[in-house]
Amino acid sequence: MTTSTTLDASAVAPRRSAARARWLAVLRTPVGAGAGLLLALVLLLALVAPLLWSGEADRIDTSDVLQGASAEHWVGTDALGRDVFARVLVATRLSIGLALAATSIAVVLGLLLGCAPLLLGRRGGRLVTAGVNIAVAFPGLLLALFFAVVFGVGMTGAVLAIGFAGAPAFARLSQTLAAGIADRDFVSAARIAGVGRFRVLVRHVLPNIGEPLVVNATIGAGGALLAFAGLSFLGLGVQAPSYDWGRLLQDGLSGIYIHPVAALAPGVAIVVAGLAFNLFGEAVAKGIGLTTALGGGFAPGRALRREETRRRAAAADQTPPATDPGPEPGRPVLDVQDLSVTFPGAAGPVRPVRGVSFRIGRGEAVGVVGESGSGKSLTALAIARLVEQPGEVTAGRLRFQGADLLSGGDRTHRRLLGTSFAMVFQDPMTSFNPTRRIGRQLAEVAQEHQGMSRRAALARAVDRLRSVRVPAAERRAHQYPHEFSGGMRQRAMIGMGLMGEPSLIVADEPTTALDVTVQRQVLDLLAAVRAEDDVALLLISHDVAVVGQVCERVLVMYAGRVVEDLPADRLRTGARHPYTRALVAAVPDMDVDLDQPLPVIPGRPVDPAHQPPGCAYAPRCPLASARCTDEDPALADDGTGWRVACWHAGEVAADRDVPGAAPVALALGERA
Ligand code: SF4
Repeated sequence: MTTSTTLDASAVAPRRSAARARWLAVLRTPVGAGAGLLLALVLLLALVAPLLWSGEADRIDTSDVLQGASAEHWVGTDALGRDVFARVLVATRLSIGLALAATSIAVVLGLLLGCAPLLLGRRGGRLVTAGVNIAVAFPGLLLALFFAVVFGVGMTGAVLAIGFAGAPAFARLSQTLAAGIADRDFVSAARIAGVGRFRVLVRHVLPNIGEPLVVNATIGAGGALLAFAGLSFLGLGVQAPSYDWGRLLQDGLSGIYIHPVAALAPGVAIVVAGLAFNLFGEAVAKGIGLTTALGGGFAPGRALRREETRRRAAAADQTPPATDPGPEPGRPVLDVQDLSVTFPGAAGPVRPVRGVSFRIGRGEAVGVVGESGSGKSLTALAIARLVEQPGEVTAGRLRFQGADLLSGGDRTHRRLLGTSFAMVFQDPMTSFNPTRRIGRQLAEVAQEHQGMSRRAALARAVDRLRSVRVPAAERRAHQYPHEFSGGMRQRAMIGMGLMGEPSLIVADEPTTALDVTVQRQVLDLLAAVRAEDDVALLLISHDVAVVGQVCERVLVMYAGRVVEDLPADRLRTGARHPYTRALVAAVPDMDVDLDQPLPVIPGRPVDPAHQPPGCAYAPRCPLASARCTDEDPALADDGTGWRVACWHAGEVAADRDVPGAAPVALALGERA
């Protein structure tokens, strides 16, 4: 117990100290220090002013009414002879308190509305988003006046009115922030692990949007202060005998031509306090690297515009669960046929993945190679059901362990994928939630799917970390992701996949962000996991050499489709598709002549929105013929399982008049 507590404290310390350092850095800037001091003074005044000056502020002296500024009354007296300066000081508490109450309502309501699309289905989410968009289009003060009429005249009505009027801007901000976090790999990992929407929101999204929300709430409080003063000035806010700065402004207006100072004093207080909140919020936002999205708290025009599209159809949850038949000898772990992913485009639907078909057997390692934009990662996301609206996944067949991933609800698939499917992402830095300890994130899977207690799940997490060779696993399980090195984070990610009993690991460029030595360790680990547990591996990489070393079969993708499916040991010398050979030729080896330019593939990959008719590779292909530009070749099997989509498969280029063809053809010829 003692050890655990000590470890927790040691793990939390660096995180806390980093946050403290950031805030201290803000306070060391001239603007940050000035705004911080001003805000502290305003808050201190709100606390002590009513205690010190209430008597003087409320003392009526009919012999001293409407007096100008004097040594006794610094900014004069009101119509009942009360000291205006004392009243302005005393009004600080009510003015600030009401502004903070209204801001709290705006933040809570905004957070609920902003996060609702993550919890609701597609239709419900769209409805909420549309409502927020409409509300944001109205000026904040206009909304406040509308709600003031709805909630009635008085202090409570005004607080509610300003809170409700500020909510749309915070809702938009929350939506934007939450959508940004929902894009991150650790959220995808949690969803693959089967963590439900509500838990994803509470554990992974909210902790990561807290800081920017607090900063914007500070700025919003300045706006709420001004809005409240406006309502009180119009007689819709604080009512006599209570008074805030807006009310004092209204009282002083009648004598503004006789004693302007008495009327201006509450106005100056409003400006100073509003500036204190705004400047402090802006300074903190700049210091911690945020773009403030609310401006004055009621300025929705500055809010970042991004649509929230992270939901799946809630109705799918109602469908009866498909059974998980588990791995069976001879049956493929993954069976994909005619998989396509379509997005709406300006000139019609765009299909970045087109008719992909392949199977992976138990314990088999299959690599997927291709240039950026060839559809490799999107294919993996489609298999893991991580393509969100407006993307649409269609397939003739998409079966994992015999279960149909195209039918059945979210919950069913979460259960199946959470226990039998593991995904390793490219960037180990974004694969884990930075606000949660590694052990807890691993344990979440076991708690969710295996019904383990918190303690037992953590023990399994430690065991899994040990199995992926994380040193001092027990101590490391209590640490945060930033305390892990890149390679160790990637190993922990693999460990997370092993919390269940995976039959397939999809590794999407798992070594790209790592240095060469660590790359080797991660690849060795994947190979060891495969060998020990007979787990199938789908390794996505742009590195042909890596895939050739680790895998038994290689799928080569170009322009969203598989153009060759060949044995890995034939990749280097036996590839039949011109694109595969060009990819291999572009990999430098120890024999490369450094005096010669390295071979490259001429031209650029195809834009999915502008697929040419015929073979998509034709504009870059040294073997392209008239038939190639007219007809798209099918992926034909030669009877051994080797599949190629090319009209001239296996032919070697003669020296043709194709731009950029000569260097590649020459390189291919030399290697052959
Ligand atoms: S079909 Fe024609 S253009 Fe396409 S890869 Fe084969 S030879 Fe080249």
